[in-house]
Amino acid sequence: MIKIKTLEEIELMRESALIVSKTLGEVAKAIKPGVTTLQLDKIAEEYIRDLGAIPGFLGLYDFPNTLCMSPNEQVVHGIPNNTPLKEGDIISVDCGALKNGFYGDHAYTFEIGEVAEETKKLLRITKESLYAGIKEFRAGNRVGDVGFAIQNYTEKHGYGVVRELVGHGLGKEMHEDPEMPNYGRRGRGKKFKEGMVVAIEPMINLGTHQIKQFSDGWTIKTVDLKPSAHFEHDVAIVSGKPELLSTFQYVYDALGIVSDEEDEFRQ
Ligand code: MG
Ligand code: MG
Repeated sequence: MIKIKTLEEIELMRESALIVSKTLGEVAKAIKPGVTTLQLDKIAEEYIRDLGAIPGFLGLYDFPNTLCMSPNEQVVHGIPNNTPLKEGDIISVDCGALKNGFYGDHAYTFEIGEVAEETKKLLRITKESLYAGIKEFRAGNRVGDVGFAIQNYTEKHGYGVVRELVGHGLGKEMHEDPEMPNYGRRGRGKKFKEGMVVAIEPMINLGTHQIKQFSDGWTIKTVDLKPSAHFEHDVAIVSGKPELLSTFQYVYDALGIVSDEEDEFRQ
């Protein structure tokens, strides 16, 4: 069942989303070659707790850490460890936080130093596809409209759209209805209504869409071991239109990136 949020609840969810946004900004300040994902995980956990929130992933379905950190051929759900990041890596950092009873949940894929041109392009197109999907998240549209937009935007570059993992409704639970696949057909699926809040999160592979689960029971990798990108935002429908609750601005401030990509999704 889809749980509709009041405007007051949406403001609380914005607070939770912004805690995650700021946490990703803290990660952005520290991420560089030589740093381990476990060190970044510790920074994130302390930062979230300092803001009076609870790490959203820690203990959820028994996940052992605050961040899902998935480098290179890992798609999502990578577990932080003591392996230092190295020049040329990419890494998806997915973070959740719980405050006032509501979850925030979003993700950014970082470049570590100079990365290969084709990988840079994968990241750019995946992030653009996120916004192409968000545009379709409006009252009267359907789940398939978002999925179609993301699939259409990425497959024309020859990329693989992960099928088994999807975006989701967000609220008092991390994963609520509806499921939000990154593929689909226009006009199909559940209809969007005022007050819905979802996490839209394209997971896009440079090669095949096929994935496999690693023996740790968590980490998802591409079957062909080519890189995979992942960007995620939390979005509400307000006045019929998509309203971004999360922001990459803290990441951009840390990395010196100038962007107006989020402007059209703020009312
Ligand atoms: Mg996430
Ligand atoms: Mg999510």
